[in-house]
Amino acid sequence: MGEGVIIVGSGPAGVSAAWPLLQAGVAVTMLDADPGGALPAAPEGTMAGLRGNASRWQVQFGADLAGVAGRGALSPKLGMPLARAVLAGFEAGNRIGVDGFVSLGSLAAGGLSHIWGGAAAVYDAADLAGFPFGEAVLAPSYAAVMGRIGVSQVSGFSPPVGRVWAAAGRRPATDGFELEPARNAVLRADRDGRGGCVQCNLCLFGCHRGSIYHSDQELPALLAMPGFSYRRGARVVRVGVDAGRPVVALSGGEVVRGQRVLLACGTLATTGLVMRALGLARLRLLSNPVAAMAFVVPGLVGAGLPERGFSLGQLAFRLGIGGGVRAAGMLFAADGLPLSTFAGQMPVSRPVALRLARALAPALVLANCYLPGGFSDNAVVLEADGVRLVGRTTAAARAGLREAAQRLRRALAGLGAFAIPGSLTLAAPGADAHAAGTLPMGGDGPGGTDLTGAVSGLPGVHVVDGAALPALPARHYTLTIMANADRIARLLAVA
Ligand SMILES: Cc1cc2nc3c(=O)[nH]c(=O)nc-3n(C[C@H](O)[C@H](O)[C@H](O)COP(=O)(O)OP(=O)(O)OC[C@H]3O[C@@H](n4cnc5c(N)ncnc54)[C@H](O)[C@@H]3O)c2cc1C
Repeated sequence: MGEGVIIVGSGPAGVSAAWPLLQAGVAVTMLDADPGGALPAAPEGTMAGLRGNASRWQVQFGADLAGVAGRGALSPKLGMPLARAVLAGFEAGNRIGVDGFVSLGSLAAGGLSHIWGGAAAVYDAADLAGFPFGEAVLAPSYAAVMGRIGVSQVSGFSPPVGRVWAAAGRRPATDGFELEPARNAVLRADRDGRGGCVQCNLCLFGCHRGSIYHSDQELPALLAMPGFSYRRGARVVRVGVDAGRPVVALSGGEVVRGQRVLLACGTLATTGLVMRALGLARLRLLSNPVAAMAFVVPGLVGAGLPERGFSLGQLAFRLGIGGGVRAAGMLFAADGLPLSTFAGQMPVSRPVALRLARALAPALVLANCYLPGGFSDNAVVLEADGVRLVGRTTAAARAGLREAAQRLRRALAGLGAFAIPGSLTLAAPGADAHAAGTLPMGGDGPGGTDLTGAVSGLPGVHVVDGAALPALPARHYTLTIMANADRIARLLAVA
């Protein structure tokens, strides 16, 4: 067993970095801010059962579902008790302030993966255009990560999404619009103590069967590996170098030393630690400008709500918006959402709104649509007592999202789903939860890192989360963060 490596964070990045090191016989200490205590339990049963039981709704989601409308306007999931617990204390714990940016981060074991949508994309050559390596370099790491976490393609669709998919099969793709069944980090059959998806449609509340991957599911297997230790309640407040070796200081004052330190606290927290260590005044922060809109399949209005369903992304699309730019997004059904989510948006009395929502929900297709990070204009700025995230929506991002929405409207109208007028919502910067690119691999400016995520000026400190990605394509990025963390750890295991 070699001298130990410290990994900070047990999210998807930290766990993915741990495996290759341990498999190569390198000791790993994982430090995690997680304060202890259980997260709210995911409800059991089915969405249909929950929907029919008003008192259970109140107990599980709060009187009048007050939190369900969500944060950042886009994901109703963000208002749920689980999300509130996962996100709690992040900004204060990492000394992060905000100005026009929705900062989504976590101090929980498993991090944001407790509430992610599980959408898993393998970047192609075009997606990797801004990276200092190509598809062949990442391929073994993608394979290793997908093998561990279980990535499956959606096979059964909710009725409105199924109609769109069936119509797409009958028509050639047009206007650069490509549609395919979504790939999600979801098990279809039982494995490793996790249950296969039974289409209970409760995905947004947390998956009680563990079908949707979250990274602290892997902690028991890591703990069974020789050389692995895990420390909860170990919040890192400072990274530095002492006598040529990397060190981290914990909130209680303890200093922990290792052969190397791998930062996997999530892009925003990792960036703050490095900026404070090096005194970097300002770094560019990439995010995916994102919009959401709703479509209706007229023949399904008033149909019954299905007994079973799946409320993560069901179909993935890509479309060109001119100038070689590709937008991407997901199509969802609405039958897994509390009806109050739509009722709250309707300008009529609540009882009428709930009846309308019940009639509409079985016919709705919800879409989100992301632009590449090059359309974002955010920064992280060093301040006396931490860092501030400054977000701005550019005119180009607004125009790009409107163009993408227009093309999506045309494409889906051809497939029998019609946009609901006024439903297009542009989210605030950061609401995409895809922050990246502050400490880019191959970058030669301040904060640039090398191909192992090594931070210049902090010997032995490596960045293995989204901060190290040099570009942010429109497609979901977490699987690539994980593959990159795996790739870096393989290199470090033999260095
Ligand atoms: C609502 C939502 C939906 C999403 N859907 C998708 C999706 O469908 N597809 C996709 O690709 N991505 C999605 N994401 C993004 C995805 O969740 C993140 O990209 C991913 O979790 C990042 O992994 P990470 O390990 O870098 O960081 P995190 O998951 O944030 O984990 C950070 C870890 O670091 C620890 N930590 C933080 N600060 C400190 C500190 N100071 N000291 C010690 N430990 C610390 C935390 O306790 C945690 O263990 C979504 C995110 C949200 C919020």
